[in-house]
Amino acid sequence: RAKEKGRKRFELFDETLAKNVVDVLTLEGELRHALLHDEFEPYFQPICRLDGGQVLGYEALIRWNHPRRGLLKPDDFIKIAQDCGMIEAIDWRMFELSCRALAGYDEGEPFMTLNVSALHLGSADFDARLLELVGRSGLPPGRLIAEVTEGALIENPERVRAMLERLRSFGVGAALDDFGTGYSSLSYLHSLPLRMLKIDRAFVCELNKGSNTSSTRVVAAILALARALDIQVIAEGIETEVERAALLAMGCEMGQGYLLGHPEPMRARLAPHHPPVPTGSLEA
Ligand code: C2E
Ligand code: MG
Ligand code: MG
Ligand code: MG
Repeated sequence: RAKEKGRKRFELFDETLAKNVVDVLTLEGELRHALLHDEFEPYFQPICRLDGGQVLGYEALIRWNHPRRGLLKPDDFIKIAQDCGMIEAIDWRMFELSCRALAGYDEGEPFMTLNVSALHLGSADFDARLLELVGRSGLPPGRLIAEVTEGALIENPERVRAMLERLRSFGVGAALDDFGTGYSSLSYLHSLPLRMLKIDRAFVCELNKGSNTSSTRVVAAILALARALDIQVIAEGIETEVERAALLAMGCEMGQGYLLGHPEPMRARLAPHHPPVPTGSLEA
């Protein structure tokens, strides 16, 4: 019986594995095709003042216009791109397209944040390569902010700190993304050259439950900490008026979220002498 059970389990496992391998290989091939055929596109989500809605900047978020599967989000493919070693090439393409798009958008002088993975921060020539790319795009480096996650810091915080210092010397700022969900440590926070800190959506969401929750106290503590360290705060994933009002009341001045604006391609904002946005291009 035990043997039978064992065999069954093995078959099940085998089947799952085989299925995944095929999926992975298919997706790998499609990713390669996508790079060659320009199927990646940056979408831009506004980062706004919470008191008047003024757009201060944009976060660039990658989208894949897949010929058959439709518009794909990073969760659908970033993990596989990482595993098969294609994330670097995809990110560089994304950086290039994002900088170009923002350089061509001259309404105000919004900043732009880019999601930079741990891989880049550990590579010695990342700053030189980025600077060269930004220079070619015509975007002033002072309008660029690199978003890094706490996860990127774990392996080699000293190396990441050195890279962020070098970026800062060129005018490129740094933001700590998804703050509160990772391995936050006060000991490194003050030693990093951070311009911004982004409070994760998980905390913002809890604000709907009233002001007497532990999340509210955590948000208040993060705001106090940021103030003490002279770091600006962006609240992520604001979906309701209750969240916006609560954040504002606690002294949070900036945020992003569906309430304030969905991620959209830059061409959608370049009205009216550009083609109108086709319906369906906005995210649900
Ligand atoms: P993130 O950097 O934390 O980006 C915020 C995510 O929250 C985005 O998801 C955004 O569309 C979503 N979001 C914004 N406002 C709201 C809201 O009000 N409600 C909800 N429920 N969600 C909201 P997205 O675009 O699917 O990106 C997921 C993650 O993928 C990003 O998380 C980022 O870590 C990563 N990512 C995005 N673009 C790139 C890229 O170009 N390269 C790499 N390596 N990673 C990327
Ligand atoms: Mg981000
Ligand atoms: Mg985030
Ligand atoms: Mg997040």
